[in-house]
Amino acid sequence: MKIYVNGEFVNKEDAKVSVYDHGLLYGDGVFEGIRAYEGVIFKLKEHIDRLYESAISLDIKIDISREEMSKVVIDTVKINELNDAYIRLVVTRGVGDLGLDPRKCLKPTIFCIAEPMNPLLGDQGIKTIVSGIRRLPVDVLNPAVKSLNYLNSILAKIQANAAGVNEAFLLDRNGYVAEGTGDNVFVVKNGIIRTPPVSTSVLRGITRDTAIELAIEAGYTVLEENLTLHDLYTADELFITGTAAELIHVIEIDGRIINNGEAGEITKDLLSRFIEIRGKIGAKIE
Ligand code: PMP
Repeated sequence: MKIYVNGEFVNKEDAKVSVYDHGLLYGDGVFEGIRAYEGVIFKLKEHIDRLYESAISLDIKIDISREEMSKVVIDTVKINELNDAYIRLVVTRGVGDLGLDPRKCLKPTIFCIAEPMNPLLGDQGIKTIVSGIRRLPVDVLNPAVKSLNYLNSILAKIQANAAGVNEAFLLDRNGYVAEGTGDNVFVVKNGIIRTPPVSTSVLRGITRDTAIELAIEAGYTVLEENLTLHDLYTADELFITGTAAELIHVIEIDGRIINNGEAGEITKDLLSRFIEIRGKIGAKIE
């Protein structure tokens, strides 16, 4: 396996970053998780744009263009001869000293890893809990910034593990539903699809946006509005979206069974529409 590190492709054993990298010392960096389906990198432009926006927010100056960054991703998939892949693209503030002053980091560290990953079939649902950990408030560390600091999510994931379920949802500081540890959440009630707005404590998921687009195209009503725990507990259908998760139905939340533990009709419809388009939208590897 070849990994891109700071301008060159190296073997996995040689893919290393410095212990003085601020990405490691302080979580001071940004990243993207991206999928390739049938040789097409799903919504690559959207991922690259989000990466640069996260970097702008943290004032990390990426020293290559968006086009060059897109090529890094494409080349990493290509050199490893992958068709269906999970890609991790990371930019840190770079190597500095032990102090946290970002001015000491002169050049960002960039690396890209692509591993084989088969598309999901969507036949298995997940069990969930609502975590006692609150999602980061937008005025503390905005979840819209996809930074390397995932501790907030990891704390909630530890609770999910302890409860023996697959995923945990986090509420925001005001008690409204934010998102999962690595995915966005959707509720279906009386045929209407709802998800928390991007102005709240959520990452604007690229799969989330795709699900909304597909739902609107299919003629469903989609509302972006605050959701409460009650909305989740009493949902007709509940599903999550994410690059890794794709679109998965929730069968249980805090012990309440959703839709008799089956994927609902609207969820199934959106999943089949997603499967239909996932290998068609994005950058083709040629
Ligand atoms: N929220 C969080 C916290 C995430 O880590 C992710 C995964 N990137 C998502 C939502 C879903 O985003 P996307 O659909 O772009 O993968």
